[in-house]
Amino acid sequence: MSSVSEYFSGLFGGIKSLLTGMRVTWGELWTKKITEQYPENRDTLVIPDRFRGELIMPHDENNEHLCTACGICQMNCPNGTIQVISKTIETEEGKKKKILDRYIYDLGMCTFCNLCVITCPSDAIIFTNTFENSLFTRSKLIEQLNHEGSKLAEKKKEKPAAVVTKPVAKAEAAVHGDNSAPEGAPQTQLEPIPAQDIKEDSGVHPEKNYPKDVTTDTVPASKLPTSEEQEKEDKE
Ligand code: SF4
Ligand code: SF4
Repeated sequence: MSSVSEYFSGLFGGIKSLLTGMRVTWGELWTKKITEQYPENRDTLVIPDRFRGELIMPHDENNEHLCTACGICQMNCPNGTIQVISKTIETEEGKKKKILDRYIYDLGMCTFCNLCVITCPSDAIIFTNTFENSLFTRSKLIEQLNHEGSKLAEKKKEKPAAVVTKPVAKAEAAVHGDNSAPEGAPQTQLEPIPAQDIKEDSGVHPEKNYPKDVTTDTVPASKLPTSEEQEKEDKE
């Protein structure tokens, strides 16, 4: 008798479990989908502003930044991602002054902890939410964040507005052989790899700077915004 009751209890337990699973499956069938078809959805892709994709140093229209070359960010970076190279100049009044020469940032080393941004007393650096930063050469992830010929802003009037472009940046440039940084982005130009530095088996094309078998199928040029469209979008 006990074996019969055990049999039925197991049977009903199994049916109950099956129905519970089917109820969850049925419910999920009608819930709103949150997965996205990337990269086909680039035009409509929304990346949260708080997403940390890449460190940048905003410059204003006069090519001025807010970095005083104090080195605090470098000291606070836990893994040596930042290198602040300063130089001393003589001002018109004959005083010696330390200024920023080069601000080197290694994106490949960064853990996006944000300590550098938090501890910067001048608010000179910020994170953008661009995320397509993959390249074929690791050394290309090392960037100079201050622009060529830039200087410290005379007065801290306003924080230079960060220019955040659509996240199509470096991978896009690498695929199309366009070595210029995306419009408005503060990183310096991406230099082509010198032919002598490319190993034969690396698959990297010396002129185009990307593997020969890369196609643009995933990034149709027609899908990229024109400069007018981008301008209009920036205004909005
Ligand atoms: S986010 Fe963190 S790891 Fe990256 S540069 Fe700043 S302090 Fe260094
Ligand atoms: S970014 Fe900020 S903390 Fe780093 S050297 Fe410049 S002013 Fe100092």
